[in-house]
Amino acid sequence: MKLSGGCSCGQVRYEVDGDPIRVGICHCETCRKESGSAFSFFGIWPKENTTLSGELGCWKSRAGCRRVSHDGSDKIEIKLGTLERSPSALVLAYELWTVRREPWLAHQKRAEQHTRDRGSAEQS
Ligand SMILES: [Zn+2]
Repeated sequence: MKLSGGCSCGQVRYEVDGDPIRVGICHCETCRKESGSAFSFFGIWPKENTTLSGELGCWKSRAGCRRVSHDGSDKIEIKLGTLERSPSALVLAYELWTVRREPWLAHQKRAEQHTRDRGSAEQS
């Protein structure tokens, strides 16, 4: 499965090949601020399966375009709202920071529920 997307300003374009390592949503304060929404919706792929053009940003560095992704070590996190097509075929695996989930938002029964992060060893 090849998926492509990019940011609205056109600075970053990407293509990912194959299934993501995992797909999640996060309700933490950083994701709220970064996304400008109630939560962020993202997928994580191995960097080697990703083709990028433009400068990716990191919310810590404040460089590049942060609407698409931030950059891990050997993995890359893609904001799934930046895909050209709806990511309906991707399966939500987990929810993070459910302690901050809006009360009007139902939890996803088939997704792992984490009160906060998944644990430092699993962070990307
Ligand atoms: Zn978050």
